[in-house]
Amino acid sequence: MTESEEKNARDFSARPAKEQQEFIENTWCEHCMKENLGLTDPNEYEQGGTVYIEGKCRQCSNIVLTELTEEEF
Ligand SMILES: [Zn+2]
Repeated sequence: MTESEEKNARDFSARPAKEQQEFIENTWCEHCMKENLGLTDPNEYEQGGTVYIEGKCRQCSNIVLTELTEEEF
């Protein structure tokens, strides 16, 4: 494993409340095959130069992963 593939924890709670709310609500669950179901327990990290927000689907409790594009950092 190279360094760039390691997960680097980021502070999701450091984001403005409005932004946190958007990330929590604007989700895509591949288990439910539905968008914007929302997530719980958000956890933000960076891996290989990409930032992800991981949480649990409010409907099925499976992991929901949101990939952030660079403009959204
Ligand atoms: Zn789901």
